[in-house]
Amino acid sequence: MSLLLGCIADDFTGGTDLAGTLVRQGMRTVQMIGVPHGPPPPDVDAVVVALKSRTAPVGDAVDTALAALRWLRAAGARQICFKVCSTFDSTPQGNIGPVADALMDALGSDFSIACPAFPVNGRTVYKGHLFVGDVLLSDSGMRDHPLTPMTDANLVRVLQAQTRRRVGLADFRDVDAGPDALRRRFAALRAEGVGMAIVDAITDAHLQTIATACADLPLLTTGSGVGIGLPANFRASGLLPDGLVADALPGAPGPSAVIAGSCSVATRAQVAAMAAVHPAFRVDPLALAQGEDVVGAATAFAAERLAAGPVLIYATATPEEVRAVQQRLGVEHAGALVENALADIARALVGLGVTRLIVAGGETSGAVVKALDVQGLRIGPEIAPGVPWTRALPRRPDAAPLALALKSGNFGGTGFFLDAWDALS
Ligand code: ADP
Repeated sequence: MSLLLGCIADDFTGGTDLAGTLVRQGMRTVQMIGVPHGPPPPDVDAVVVALKSRTAPVGDAVDTALAALRWLRAAGARQICFKVCSTFDSTPQGNIGPVADALMDALGSDFSIACPAFPVNGRTVYKGHLFVGDVLLSDSGMRDHPLTPMTDANLVRVLQAQTRRRVGLADFRDVDAGPDALRRRFAALRAEGVGMAIVDAITDAHLQTIATACADLPLLTTGSGVGIGLPANFRASGLLPDGLVADALPGAPGPSAVIAGSCSVATRAQVAAMAAVHPAFRVDPLALAQGEDVVGAATAFAAERLAAGPVLIYATATPEEVRAVQQRLGVEHAGALVENALADIARALVGLGVTRLIVAGGETSGAVVKALDVQGLRIGPEIAPGVPWTRALPRRPDAAPLALALKSGNFGGTGFFLDAWDALS
């Protein structure tokens, strides 16, 4: 069966969030890193193409989104979801409006919705106004965001500044009255010449209603929230089987390792807990700066010990240590040195036969995924909220199987590096 849902995410972690939501709702999902080439992976119901377009120049954001759309449609996607941030991160220039406009034009669609609501994370939309927890978006920390300061909580106004289509509102009462009432509201808005509607949502039930009412729309612009209701549409139309085990991954027996480049509080505790019971090698940024062969030393350390159990390689350090290193080397140089070294070590570990790898740190994960030439990730079982095991989809077909868990610095409990292996059958 071909692809059902095609998603275009404007950043990587947002894409992971949506992919995880779809898997939990029974869709087998793959997240692709950048616009894919070649045929889609087999046995997949949804693909999330993760772009880095949230703050890119408008023209680039539009072009990459259209390239993603072409690939998703060629793969058979029946509906497109443009995944944006739950705080609607954008500027009056874009990129939400221009990308949505371009996708609608390409899909020949004259009506679409936008709803970033994600109630479990405190993002709700009421009367078109986005709340972050108890306060309006414009009173939240997003007001001072360095790249996309959000100083207006009225999403109708925010979106209208970015699109040539007329923006309207389907408010709380329309949503609360259920899918039929909401569809009637959509029809009325459409008749008034509205091309894009902001839709209110305060509860998960509202998200379900919105998803149901949007079953036939070619494009939706949403946060991860509305994703909880989309798989049910495909089940209702007989395209997605009931009771599908969507998070099953093939086993990846073999040596295992952890690479930690995050210095967050959670990762520091996780590193300490693992180092207490498993071999651990510390990557010293100053040794790297002096040109010592730290990568070689870490690789040799791991090679001797991998047969006995998981090995930890970490650059993780206390804030004082990090500051001292940054003062000597500069913030960017220190970060890049460490990221590159950890990425090289990851490649060497895979060369040594490692088949299960946990990476801690957002930037660190990006560097490792690039070094390993990973094209995409099949999303598997969740280890901790927001952190699934995944199966790497390599660019080269002869690459050995690799299970990857990419963890944002602050995610997971203290025992994460010790217990995560159990979640992988
Ligand atoms: P997080 O998800 O916690 O933000 P990241 O990997 O995104 O983690 O960022 C951590 C950054 O800190 C990376 O650029 C990494 O290379 C850098 N880093 C890690 N260890 C050290 C260290 N000991 N000294 C200086 N910088 C470090």
